[in-house]
Amino acid sequence: MHGPDTDSDTHVDVDVVIVGGGLAGLTLALQLRQRDPSLRVSVIERQRHPVREGAFKVGESTVEIGAHYFSHVLGLRGHLDAEHLRKFGFRFFFSDGQTQLDRSTELGVSAALDVPSWQIDRGRFENFLTGHVREAGAMVHDGAVVRALELGEAGAPHVVRYEQDGASHGISARWLVDASGRAGLLKRKLGLAERNGHDANAVWWRVSGHVDPNDWSTDPQWLGRCTPPDRWRSTNHLCGEGYWFWLIPLSSGQHSLGIVCDATLHPLDGMNTHAKAMDWLRRHQPRVAQSLEHDGHELQDFL
Ligand SMILES: Cc1cc2nc3c(=O)[nH]c(=O)nc-3n(C[C@H](O)[C@H](O)[C@H](O)COP(=O)(O)OP(=O)(O)OC[C@H]3O[C@@H](n4cnc5c(N)ncnc54)[C@H](O)[C@@H]3O)c2cc1C
Repeated sequence: MHGPDTDSDTHVDVDVVIVGGGLAGLTLALQLRQRDPSLRVSVIERQRHPVREGAFKVGESTVEIGAHYFSHVLGLRGHLDAEHLRKFGFRFFFSDGQTQLDRSTELGVSAALDVPSWQIDRGRFENFLTGHVREAGAMVHDGAVVRALELGEAGAPHVVRYEQDGASHGISARWLVDASGRAGLLKRKLGLAERNGHDANAVWWRVSGHVDPNDWSTDPQWLGRCTPPDRWRSTNHLCGEGYWFWLIPLSSGQHSLGIVCDATLHPLDGMNTHAKAMDWLRRHQPRVAQSLEHDGHELQDFL
């Protein structure tokens, strides 16, 4: 966030301009308007809405503290309950190379947690948030690409230059918030990026239908361990040395899948297409690979 050092009477178009209308930008705009309806808030977002449901962005599994922010701080509990899946906690299987997951070590809750969290369909949520933020009185300029950030010194306004529908625009503000996610516009401009010494890679894709670990066992004791018997609603992680493979169900009927791994142990060029990722999965998590190939799941996207 970048704001003035001193209060100033200088004319500005808005009080706060937020660059990037993803999860962070839209929720901040909503929170600002809820706390102070006199604030003039504008969000500049590259995507045009409505965006696609089910295969839009990663960041689908909320943790309890984030879920608390959405449901209690922003008051979105009704939307979350009606439009997304209640999450059955985190779950980890240490199952590298194994076909029998019910024989591997499992860490995960056996009953629903008192503190709720949700598996979020990001397309559905951001479509909803965009409308909700507008109703709350903020401007959302979508289909608008930010081209330059001009930072004002000593209380002078900041200016965001963007293009929308082939025309160039500028908007001045007392406060500039960079919520552009991995684009990191302000971070790049100010040279703030630092290496953390750990190279990690991720690839992800979505398939139609839901993948249920309970389908992989006939052991009544193992199946009866969870009440309700809803392992599929967990954020399931199948783990091995230097990696986890995630499975996150989405309310729009898709399942989100992804590999997160140490780049030295699992090089990116061994998984950077869907065919290669499936080869990798057959070696490391053969049971889920078999499910994906034989249970009629159609590929929705691959990134
Ligand atoms: C592989 C992976 C898995 C993850 N899994 C999880 C998870 O399970 N749970 C979780 O909580 N988090 C997860 N995350 C983190 C996740 O990315 C964040 O939770 C969340 O998406 C961050 O929201 P954001 O608003 O910062 O970014 P985004 O939602 O990406 O929003 C940034 C917005 O800025 C816009 N933008 C960028 N450049 C411009 C420009 N020049 N002009 C205009 N607009 C622009 C983009 O269009 C985008 O909408 C994961 C991240 C990765 C990489």
